Amino acid sequence: MIAPARIRNFCIIAHIDHGKSTLADRMLELTGQVDQRQMREQLLDSLDLEREHGITIKATPVTMHWTTGREQFQLNLIDTPGHVDFAYEVSRAMAACEGALLLVDASQGIEAQTIANLYQALELGLEIIPVINKIDMPAAQPQAAREAIVELMGVEPDDILAVSAKHGTGVRELLGQVIARVPPPDGIAESPPRALVFDSNYDRHRGVLTHVRVVDGRLAAGDRIHLPGSGNRFEIVEVGTFAPQMQAAESLNSGQVGYVATGLKGGFEFVVGDTLLAAGAPDSQPLPGYAPPRPMVFAGIYPQDPGDYPALRRALDLLRLNDSSLTFEPEESGALGFGFRVGFLGLLHLNIVRERLERDNDLTLIVTNPGVQFRVLTRSGRRVLVDGPGAMPESNRIAEVTEPWVELSIVTPGSYLGPLMELVRLARGSVDKVETIDAGRVLMTAQAPLSEILVDFYDRLKSSTRGYASLDYHVVDFRPVEVQVVDILVNGVRVDALSSILHRQRARRDALEILSRLRKVIPRQLFQVALQASVGGKVIARETIPALRKDVLAKCYGGDVTRKRKLLKKQAEGKKRMKMVGQVEIPQAAFTTVLER
Ligand code: GDP
Ligand code: MG
Repeated sequence: MIAPARIRNFCIIAHIDHGKSTLADRMLELTGQVDQRQMREQLLDSLDLEREHGITIKATPVTMHWTTGREQFQLNLIDTPGHVDFAYEVSRAMAACEGALLLVDASQGIEAQTIANLYQALELGLEIIPVINKIDMPAAQPQAAREAIVELMGVEPDDILAVSAKHGTGVRELLGQVIARVPPPDGIAESPPRALVFDSNYDRHRGVLTHVRVVDGRLAAGDRIHLPGSGNRFEIVEVGTFAPQMQAAESLNSGQVGYVATGLKGGFEFVVGDTLLAAGAPDSQPLPGYAPPRPMVFAGIYPQDPGDYPALRRALDLLRLNDSSLTFEPEESGALGFGFRVGFLGLLHLNIVRERLERDNDLTLIVTNPGVQFRVLTRSGRRVLVDGPGAMPESNRIAEVTEPWVELSIVTPGSYLGPLMELVRLARGSVDKVETIDAGRVLMTAQAPLSEILVDFYDRLKSSTRGYASLDYHVVDFRPVEVQVVDILVNGVRVDALSSILHRQRARRDALEILSRLRKVIPRQLFQVALQASVGGKVIARETIPALRKDVLAKCYGGDVTRKRKLLKKQAEGKKRMKMVGQVEIPQAAFTTVLER
């Protein structure tokens, strides 16, 4: 058994692309945890999606061994994602650690997530080791980065390390500093076990696998466990560490990070943040856990084939084990049938969830336009949470509607301040303050409604600063807003899945835009199709899709057969994601015009 004094638990945090996963690669190599044959870039990004998108989505733990002098240490490292949607992954990883390496790209300097992550780590009382990365790059300005970090964190310049994660320069020294500066875990080895569940996933053979940080005591196969939060009970099937693949061990002890296989295969009421306690120790108190994440964006998810509804339900249950920020409840749509209203942390999260659901389960899904959650006070004094147009009470029953507002942190070269202030104003927001970060750059703090930030604020921010600005945000409160439910009629038939909740003053303008996008994505039919937007039965905008003039195939009449077949095949593929509404075929893209433009 390893003594807690020989354990160090730490995570790597940074703005996206500053080199977290690459630094983890070098550590895995240097400690001999992964041999050359198995090594590949960003090894810990093991999901297919992570590799394709080149980003980290999941916080991934790995256990390494490192010897200094005659002492052997166990290092538990958790690599984390950098995108704002996955801040909850980062906070859970941090709660399993005593220290954090805060990476700053020497060619970029401090960015919005650098600051957000730093504050999170400070709040949790972690020992923070600032590290300047990418010092090998020709554009690197390590001295400027160092000065900015000193300014931001109030540390001594000598406390900041400099590395190249790409070439491995300085990584050995870094490991030495982790051992010297990160405190060992301080649990009680000789007491009944308590372990914090910070993640989970599902394995066909071993059932639900909880990823845990053992605080007190010891866990081993055969122990009887109970979880006070979910009420689950089970007998441990196996314990082990992440090497990074799962490696069974005899026991997991106070201070260690690893997995516990529960053998449970149904009733997945697992709550990340729950505590594993010995079934026979009624006096044990659960650990504090985490504040549950607040979903910010809601959309309907429906199976293309109504028969896939049970499969979608199971897929969501399983995904929730590995993504505790996911919330969902059944929803029914006249146009799309049975599905779910799903809550997400942001649009990237929505896209990732959709891809994971579709790929891992061979499902074809239809996703409706995402929107924020409103809080509604009715005239009769009832408070309701409204996360979609279908749930909005009729306007004559509403006393007040409030919408979420976010605080934005934007890091930008000072020269773009003017255009950025205009951007915030257009988003119904206001600027609070502007502070200097380093020689050329500033941190702008502003407030705006989340609904204005969600869709394309980030793209606009990037294009008005030539890609130089970075953004972080979090919800601060709810404020009054005047909204209207705008319905869409296709040839006179209301299509509930196309409705949206719009800001009253902009309803007509936004409705026109929705219609013009629908006109582009709904294919021409053999007859003319009228598109209308209406509020409370009154039409506020209209568009027309003219009838199809010629048969598409007429063009290759008498011509080459393979070309004809190809065309037919292409049409058939397009149809896979179509829904018939009345006599009109509506493609998937029509339901998410906000996302797919
Ligand atoms: P993460 O998003 O923080 O995990 O960043 P990644 O580890 O995925 O790295 C982002 C990009 O930066 C990749 O293309 C890496 O190859 C590159 N990178 C990471 N560290 C270094 C470094 O020290 N030097 C150079 N030149 N490139 C690096
Ligand atoms: Mg990464």
